[in-house]
Amino acid sequence: MTNSVKTDKKGTYHAVAASPGIAIGEVYLLDRQRITVVEYDINAEQVAAEIDTFHGAVEKSRQQLREIQLQLSHHTQSEHFYIIDTQLMILDDEMLLRGTTQLIAQKQINASAALKRILKQFRDAFECIEDEYLRERGSDIELVGERILRNIRGKHQQQIHSLERKSIIVAHDLSPADTLQMDKEQVIGFVTDLGGRTSHTAILARSLGLPAVVGLETITSEVTTGMAIIIDGSHGDVVLEPDAPTLQRYLEKKRRYEFYQQHLQTFCELPACTADGEKVTLQANIELPEEADIALNNGATGIGLLRTEFMYMAGTTPPSEEEQFLGYKALVEKIHPSPVTIRTLDIGGDKFVQDLSLQDEANPAMGLRSIRLSLHEQQLFRIQLRAILRASAFGVVRLMFPMISGVAEVRACRQILADIMAQLRQENVAFDEKIAVGIMIETPSAVFLADLLAREVDFFSVGTNDLIQYCLAVDRSNEHVAYLYEPCHPAILRALKTISDAAKKAGISACICGEMAAEPMYSLILLAMGYTEMSMNSCGLSRVKKILRQWHTKDGHELLQRILQRSTAAEIAADLRSTVEKYFPDDMQEWEI
Ligand code: PEP
Ligand code: MG
Repeated sequence: MTNSVKTDKKGTYHAVAASPGIAIGEVYLLDRQRITVVEYDINAEQVAAEIDTFHGAVEKSRQQLREIQLQLSHHTQSEHFYIIDTQLMILDDEMLLRGTTQLIAQKQINASAALKRILKQFRDAFECIEDEYLRERGSDIELVGERILRNIRGKHQQQIHSLERKSIIVAHDLSPADTLQMDKEQVIGFVTDLGGRTSHTAILARSLGLPAVVGLETITSEVTTGMAIIIDGSHGDVVLEPDAPTLQRYLEKKRRYEFYQQHLQTFCELPACTADGEKVTLQANIELPEEADIALNNGATGIGLLRTEFMYMAGTTPPSEEEQFLGYKALVEKIHPSPVTIRTLDIGGDKFVQDLSLQDEANPAMGLRSIRLSLHEQQLFRIQLRAILRASAFGVVRLMFPMISGVAEVRACRQILADIMAQLRQENVAFDEKIAVGIMIETPSAVFLADLLAREVDFFSVGTNDLIQYCLAVDRSNEHVAYLYEPCHPAILRALKTISDAAKKAGISACICGEMAAEPMYSLILLAMGYTEMSMNSCGLSRVKKILRQWHTKDGHELLQRILQRSTAAEIAADLRSTVEKYFPDDMQEWEI
C-alpha cells in the first residue's frame, strides 16, 4: 500500500483531493523548483551579448551567495557557511566559466543551454567518483548551476500576482505566502507536485474556494503553459488535454457541483441543530481578518480559529502592535456578539515567516515552532498579546495558545499574559478582564495530560490536522505518506474521546478546529463524542449543517459505540460510508459526482 500517483492511459492523474470543485482551463506552469531550459541557436552577432548575460548572472549569483554568507556569519559559523564557501569557489571554476562561454561561441547556442550542457558534463564526471564525500560535491555544482540559470532568466521571473488570463497554476510547490499573493481574479485552481490534504496551501485553497489537487509528484514535468487541463479537486483528478467527450463530462459535473453549492447556500441562514433539537455551534477558521464576510455569508456563528500567522506572512516584517490591534478589532466588531478565537502565532512546519523562521532546522515540525517560538521570542509574543487584549475590549475574544505539549508551557504563557494585563491596567488601557483562555490539543502529550491541562484553561480546541500528524507520525504535507494520514484511525478516535471526556469532567468546552470537522461523515462521530462546537473552513459549513439537521443523536451514539469497537481505519471508514449511504443517499451522490 503506497501513495503512488495513479495514471490511466488517457492522461488522467489521481492524487490528493485538496480543495473541492472543478476547474477547466489552461495551465500556467510556475517553474520554481526546476528550471526548464530550451536550447536554441543564436547568430554570430548575438554571441557577445549572450556571453555578457552569462557573466552577469554569475556575478549576481556571487553577490547573492555573499549576502547569504554575511547573514549566516552573524549567527554561527555553521556548516551552511562552508557550503556557501564551496559554492563561491565553484563560481570561479575555470571549466564552468570557460567551458560555458566557449560553448556559446563555438556552438552558437543560448547561455542557459550552454551552461546546462556543461553541468551535464560535471554530473557525468562526478557520478564516476568512488569517494562518497567527493561525489556529493556534485550536488553543490548542481545548486550553483540552478542559481546561475535562475539569474539568467532573471528578468522573466514569474509573478503569480499579475496573470493575463484565467489560469490553473501548476507548480512543484506553493508556499502559503505564494497562495496569498495570487491574483484571485485570474487563478481558478491549482495543482502541485508536493503536499497533502492538510498542508497549509491546501487549507488556503479551501478558504479561497479554489479547486486544488496536490501531491502529484511529477506533474510539473508533464505540462507546459497554455496546455488544456481539467482539475477535479473533490476527487483528486487531473486531466491533461481532454478529448471532447471528457470535456463534456466534466462540464456537466461542474454544472452539477455548482448547482449543489447553490442549494447548500439555502442552509446558511438556518440554525445549526440536529433533527431532534441538539444545538451545535458551527464557526469558521480564517487566515486573515478580512475573511470575516466570507465566514458570515456562509452562516458561521463566530470565528473558532483565526490563524494569526498569516498576518505575519503577508509582509516582510512582523506586523506592529497597532497594525495587529486594528486588524483584530475590526474583526471582533464585525463578528460581535459572536466570539472570535484568536490563536497566537503558530509558525513552523510548512508556514514560514521571513526573519522569524529557522528554515534550516533538520526537523521543523518538531522544532522551535508555534508556542515554543513565542516563549523563546518573548518580545514578539508580548506585542501580540497586548494587541489581542486591547481588541478584547471591543467584543467577545477568546485567546488560544497553539501546540501545547504540557502544563508548564500553559503556566508560562499565563504568567506572561498576567504581566501584560498588569501593564495594561497601569496604562489604563481597556481589555476584557474575564477573557477566556484556551489551548489547542494537537500533540500526543496533550492528549495524555488532558485531565491536568483542563484544570489550567477555560477551553480546549482540538487541532486534528496536527494531532493526526503527531499521533500517527505522518507528515501532513508529505504526499508520499498521505495514504497513512487517516482521521478515522482507531488511535485518533480514542484520542478525541479522551479529550472530550476530560473536558466534560472538568466542565470546560471542547471544540474541534481541524479540517476533520468539515467532513460531514466525521462530524457525525465528533458530535456523538460530545463536540458540540466545530470550527472549519467557511466552504464546509453549510454542507455539515445540512447533514446534522437531518441526523438524530440516538443514531450517532449507536454509530459511535459500533466504530469504537473496530480495529482498523479501513473498517471504520467502511462503516461510516455505509451509514452515510443509508441516511443521506442524495447528498452522497452529490459528493460523488
Ligand atoms: C490543526 O492543527 O488542526 C489546526 C487547526 O491548526 P493548523 O492547521 O493551523 O496547524
Ligand atoms: Mg495545528
